[in-house]
Amino acid sequence: MYNPKSNDADEFICHSEVLASLEYADKNKNNIKLVDEILKKARLKKGLSHREAAVLLDCNIPEKVEEIYALAREIKNDYYGNRIVLFAPLYLSNYCVNGCVYCPYHYVNKNIPRIKLTQEQIRRETEALQDLGHKRIAIEAGEDPVNNPIEYILESIKTIYSVKHKNGSIRRVNVNIAATTVENYKKLHEAGIGTYILFQETYNKESYERLHPTGPKHNYKYHTEAMDRAMQAGIDDVSLGVLFGLELYRYEFSALLMHSEHLEAAYGVGPHAISVPRIKKADDIDPSTFDNGIDDEIFAKIVACIRIAVPYTGMIISTRETAECRKKLLTLGVSQISGGSKTSVGGYFNPAPEDENSAQFDVSDRRPLDDVIKWLIELGYLPSFCTSCYREGRTGERFMEICKKQQIHNFCHPNAIMTLKEYLEDYASVGTKALGEKLLLKEVETIKDESIRAKVKENLEKIHSGERDFKF
Ligand code: SAM
Repeated sequence: MYNPKSNDADEFICHSEVLASLEYADKNKNNIKLVDEILKKARLKKGLSHREAAVLLDCNIPEKVEEIYALAREIKNDYYGNRIVLFAPLYLSNYCVNGCVYCPYHYVNKNIPRIKLTQEQIRRETEALQDLGHKRIAIEAGEDPVNNPIEYILESIKTIYSVKHKNGSIRRVNVNIAATTVENYKKLHEAGIGTYILFQETYNKESYERLHPTGPKHNYKYHTEAMDRAMQAGIDDVSLGVLFGLELYRYEFSALLMHSEHLEAAYGVGPHAISVPRIKKADDIDPSTFDNGIDDEIFAKIVACIRIAVPYTGMIISTRETAECRKKLLTLGVSQISGGSKTSVGGYFNPAPEDENSAQFDVSDRRPLDDVIKWLIELGYLPSFCTSCYREGRTGERFMEICKKQQIHNFCHPNAIMTLKEYLEDYASVGTKALGEKLLLKEVETIKDESIRAKVKENLEKIHSGERDFKF
């Protein structure tokens, strides 16, 4: 029985409800009257149920698809403006005891060198990331209770926050590590993490168990209920995602939205962000051996329909995707991207030669961060290195309340301007700086509140004179 309030994974991701939604969507995908009704509700910009969104995802009537895309664009703009937040992953260790068949870190793989960074190496990685201009990172590690215990993760977070190199600092550490206990989530919360990220990989229990044949990650229920434990431990910014390509995308889409509905129903806080990774080639992984790959067109539709169904959520696209694909998805609702990423352990300080592949997956967008920033500005976006919300206590319910009223703009827009200014002063190339300064002049004038506008202007001057880290 589907019960979004339940803490039991089999009830909040109810298999029979997913199947019923897919059947409902298939039956109604050409029902123009219903599609129009759903679009009318979607225009209220308060979100849709998984069933309603499933109908939109299945609908292939060209003019309706155009309406879906236009609405996704409008919603992104209303909630997040033209800002795009930048981050980078930092791989701490690729030791892993799991047997995930799509991931090269699975313990059976003897080809890749196993590396676990020491605190000194983490310090060097952090400096290298700061030298690129990053302020927000996501730490990544394989699951290995002996090599990567929670104490190692906690110590690493402390190290990362402690590094102040030149004008740099990492101000938000998001954490992508395997499902763990309430007690460990409490420790992560106390360590001052930003978001806890855990991809479900697939919501289909049978496929999940087949794709994770061995190791602690085999336990579907423990993995699927991880966000509940994180919430119970006080982490109220959590980030969901599925690895598209493993299972039928329609199944994943409905189940992902059910997970989001569950978090709202049970904790009053939906997902802070949703990631949409697609499976990629990696050391001993050939994506073509998975039957459920999705093309760029379906991928774009998934992104647009998530944006419409969960208007307030951040949407993240990584460098797994090409620049061209990212450009399209930015117009359909993506609000955060990684840039200049290295997916190998220690790859920022010491980039691995191409042939020595310790990377978790192939990166498609290999451009340096500065090129990505310039590209974003040229496309009309405002790149942001803002990390204020969680540092100012705007997390969980508080964040959602402000975001749902479409007022997050009042904080994030000035913060984006001030953090981009820091980037331009400290890290930008001559060309990016010139474009960026022009953009800032324009953006400052669009701040409606006179006193905030004056304060931002004053802070921009101070940043130019060498002061750092202003925030609203
Ligand atoms: N080990 C942690 C766990 O068990 O959740 C998370 C860290 S893992 C480094 C981050 C994510 O990379 C995984 O959740 C998975 O979705 C993704 N990933 C693994 N193999 C991949 C591949 N071949 N292509 C694209 N993404 C992949």
